[in-house]
Amino acid sequence: MTDYLIKALAYDGRVRAYAAITTDTINEAQKRHDTWSVSSAALGRTMTATLLMGAMQKEDQKITIKIEGNGPIGPIIADSNTQGHVRGYVTNPHVHFDELNGAGKLDVRRGVGTEGTLSVVKDLGFGQNFTGQIPIVSGEIGEDFTYYLAKSEQINSSVGVGVLVNPDDSIKAAGGFMIQLMPGADDALIDDLEKNLKNCPTVSRLIDEGKTPEEILAILAGGEDNLQILEKIPVSFECNCSKERFGAAIISLGKDEIKQMIEEDHGAEAECHFCRNHYHFDEAELEKLYEEAQ
Ligand code: ZN
Repeated sequence: MTDYLIKALAYDGRVRAYAAITTDTINEAQKRHDTWSVSSAALGRTMTATLLMGAMQKEDQKITIKIEGNGPIGPIIADSNTQGHVRGYVTNPHVHFDELNGAGKLDVRRGVGTEGTLSVVKDLGFGQNFTGQIPIVSGEIGEDFTYYLAKSEQINSSVGVGVLVNPDDSIKAAGGFMIQLMPGADDALIDDLEKNLKNCPTVSRLIDEGKTPEEILAILAGGEDNLQILEKIPVSFECNCSKERFGAAIISLGKDEIKQMIEEDHGAEAECHFCRNHYHFDEAELEKLYEEAQ
């Protein structure tokens, strides 16, 4: 199944709901970064939650998430927009533990760490940014995003994200959901939602069983009659890096630095953190950049 995201309303518009299947997208990230099991799960959960938050934004706004925990994975970065494009990387892609956690799952909390911060930067356009930050409360990532939304944006929500990893490190299933209470949500509705959430299997298991984002939200909304689908958006791993962008970065280093690259290294190599694409600049290309530099 190709990855996609849906936006929906539930319970007569009193609940806003998002769900996405991201198996192919996280598989692409896994291959590009050569992540091992726990790093894959942490990166996949973060990218999926970032994608869901990206879908909440307006038009050409962008969102960047940075999770800096004290676990062996180190900082995790992901960004997304409203068009279903997401990318991300982890500082240490090679984290794997032989033992699973108490619930028989990959021990993401141990990989991420339980102390540190989750920060959100929203690029609102026109050079305007919004920044929010919370302490890590769980390290399992979904709960951290839930806490961020409550604390920083005053939105009562539930964020569930999950990744299943195959023995060969490829991604078996990945995806997530985010449901948010809107004004008008009363206690009876909240009780109902909590019951649905409690009885719902994990999102990675639902996706592994072949459930679609629509079917997952129907489970969470207590039936498809309670659900009104608003939009369906294709999802993919996309990076906007280019040789021109890296060229501009080299120009900004200044003439002395570029001269050194030409005379000592006879060229320059650049690698994108987000997608691991490589760019090579030969001497002639560096000469051109040298001319443009200050
Ligand atoms: Zn890139």
